[in-house]
Amino acid sequence: MPTHVVHPVRDLLRQVDPEGELAPCSLRQLLLGPGAITAVATTVEELLAAAGRAPTGRPTVALLVDPVPMTRLGADLKDLVERQLAERFEVRRVLLDDGHPELHVSDAVLADAVRGVAAADAVVALGGGTISDLGKLAAFAGSGPAPVLVAVQTAASVDGYTDDVSVVLRDGVKRTVPSRWPDAVVADAETIAEAPARMNRAGFGEMTSMLTAPADWRLANLVGTDTTFHEGPIRLLEVVGADIDTWSPGVRGGDPDAVAALTRALALRGLATGIAGTTAVLSGVEHLVSHMLDQHHAGHHLPIGLHGAQVGAAAVVAAAAWELLLDRLATTAAPSFDEEVLDPGRARARVEHAFAGLGAGIATECWHDYERKLGAVTAARGRLAEALRAWNRHEPELRRLVRPSAEIAAALRAAGAPATPAELDPFVPRPLWRWAVAHCALMRNRFTVVDLLMFLGWWTDAEVDEVLARAEAAVRSADGPELVS
Ligand SMILES: [Zn+2]
Repeated sequence: MPTHVVHPVRDLLRQVDPEGELAPCSLRQLLLGPGAITAVATTVEELLAAAGRAPTGRPTVALLVDPVPMTRLGADLKDLVERQLAERFEVRRVLLDDGHPELHVSDAVLADAVRGVAAADAVVALGGGTISDLGKLAAFAGSGPAPVLVAVQTAASVDGYTDDVSVVLRDGVKRTVPSRWPDAVVADAETIAEAPARMNRAGFGEMTSMLTAPADWRLANLVGTDTTFHEGPIRLLEVVGADIDTWSPGVRGGDPDAVAALTRALALRGLATGIAGTTAVLSGVEHLVSHMLDQHHAGHHLPIGLHGAQVGAAAVVAAAAWELLLDRLATTAAPSFDEEVLDPGRARARVEHAFAGLGAGIATECWHDYERKLGAVTAARGRLAEALRAWNRHEPELRRLVRPSAEIAAALRAAGAPATPAELDPFVPRPLWRWAVAHCALMRNRFTVVDLLMFLGWWTDAEVDEVLARAEAAVRSADGPELVS
């Protein structure tokens, strides 16, 4: 019978970062594969011993869950894990519920989680990305010694299990905040294969950001607004990307081996951001577009879509934006800056106009971030000009870090993941999609290809339409000639 594999994370990291230059990673174990669920209690016990936590009496374990029913081979997953833990520990089940169909990390839910894990020796976060994020925050926020934290992931929907940050919803805006590493992540193949197909397909969408975001990360480094660039995380991503084509079609039909490969790929991706010390490795334009949609939906009290699904469809657009930039720079002898874009007064008006429909608080929050980016770019203007003068030297590297939009669209299609806004759930109408793409650079202090296009005066309505048209053409080419009318 096949069994799960325990990956010692340190050995893996030594391969990609032999000099130990990257951020320390306190994730010790990744348990991946069939039957991994049977090792949850043993793992907690080993970690408690390694942490020198041997309370008198039975240790207390807080089991964090949401209200969503989950099964594994027909059995109730939460009961199964609770029973297993109860053989060795005092178990306290902490049900987190905000009354919405999908749980979000709001201040109120986080406060419940912090109360729920208080004084526990260990926390087991059993669920999807949101429960994992809550576990990492709650097992970090309390006073006293931090509890052991084990994340048991129930879907391959995001890569946030294996890193030390969490996504929170604050004043209607999604933000990534520091939290902590879990000590172990358990990804049980049978559990994840039973997750709703749309969750795992969304995980595939999330994965495609590795085909676009590294180029944004490198660009920000060239411009000088981000100093974290390092080859180590890129090497780790090369390991992840090596065999995607062989298993992506299996994700479409929920093939357990393909879902296991996806789980492993997402886990390694998470590690890449964790050791880089920044999510910028895997979060560029495609994530900004997704966050814009979330902001719109939250601001209008509409259901928020699956993060990874949105990221995947937006990755096609991000790649198309890169194609536009690379084409333009290849044919423009001496590009110049658009002074209007750099003018703070006009920039503020643009931010306020873009977010006007979402309330003053959101516009203020976005302007706060965008103002810092504008300041950093203005200060780094000389360096940006220098990077453009030496563009021939940088171009081959940037081209390697971003895949063609048609290739990304084909990968999404193969895996059955949404590739267009119309395929997202909730459905994203074209005007909303266009708004999210057009204004994505205005929401955050992170330099991307869209910022460079804006500063060069190449992000007018015409260019936004051109990029959207390129993305649509990429998806049509993935659909094949027989479907083109
Ligand atoms: Zn993501």
